[in-house]
Amino acid sequence: MKLRFGFSALMVVAGVSLASAQTDTVESHVNAARKAAGGDFGGVLGAICPADRSTIAAIGAARRPRPPGTPSVPDRASWYAKPYKVFDNLYWVGTKVHSSWALKTSAGIILIDTLYDYAIQPEIVDGLKALKLDPRQVKYVVISHAHGDHDQGAALLQSRYGTRVVMGAADWDATLKRDASYAGGVPKRGPNDISVGPEGAKITLGDTTVNVISTPGHTPGTLSLTFPVKDHGRALTVAYSGGTAFNFPRTAENFAMYEATQKKMGDAAAAAGATVLMSNHTEFDGAYDKVRLAQLPRAAGEAHPYEIGAPAIRRYFEMTSDCAEAQRLGMK
Ligand SMILES: [Zn+2]
Repeated sequence: MKLRFGFSALMVVAGVSLASAQTDTVESHVNAARKAAGGDFGGVLGAICPADRSTIAAIGAARRPRPPGTPSVPDRASWYAKPYKVFDNLYWVGTKVHSSWALKTSAGIILIDTLYDYAIQPEIVDGLKALKLDPRQVKYVVISHAHGDHDQGAALLQSRYGTRVVMGAADWDATLKRDASYAGGVPKRGPNDISVGPEGAKITLGDTTVNVISTPGHTPGTLSLTFPVKDHGRALTVAYSGGTAFNFPRTAENFAMYEATQKKMGDAAAAAGATVLMSNHTEFDGAYDKVRLAQLPRAAGEAHPYEIGAPAIRRYFEMTSDCAEAQRLGMK
């Protein structure tokens, strides 16, 4: 009896230690990510924490940038979207798939991302005009990261309007190595352009400052942002996530870097008091629907459709961090 008791006790001790070792597993991080997401962020969760992890590579492949020099313009009905004013000082000039935002200041416009080359004229240039904004007033363009779906309009804005291009240092370096035949052309890095290092940058134009945060992971030079908007005169802060999908080289180091910068961005969003979350793909932040919902009248005290609150933003970056950690652990 004594021996059996001892054996049972040993099993209990072993069981406890086994359980604590298993709290840090692929499954535990996927579960933590799902819990953090709650009923929100299904688009991101499906992309980077799918139930079947083998689908991640396929999702990444589907998101690969449009190859340089791709001649044909996709059927306009598949991407064209009307532009909208979304906050007092923020305008959406994106496609059905990708977002481009124009932040109006007292001294011109800061544009965030530029879409594929075929969309720059109809969506951004003509879109700004339709919203009674002057594309010649685009003083800065912030490129969230150097993939074709976000950066192919940069060269046109720079050469046509003298727009200053803001990019992460590593993504600038990659951009300057491109062939001249790259769709949309290759922007030049002149003395007025801004190359953002790990320390980040502050871009001030007139009465508005955009806080640029270096968040490498999706690409080595991915930038995320916090910036102020007004909703019928009420001041709010946006946290803008500059890179989401896992279509980068699948190494443990890359996932660890991604995870660290999600935590960093979660802290930056909290420090800025952000209650609005934005992304650069409409599938990730519901932009296509939300910019339209923002046009509807609201009851007194009803929040803007983009205002999800600080706790939800904290949960978002916990989710992305846990999804990356699940991938990192799954590589071993
Ligand atoms: Zn990308």
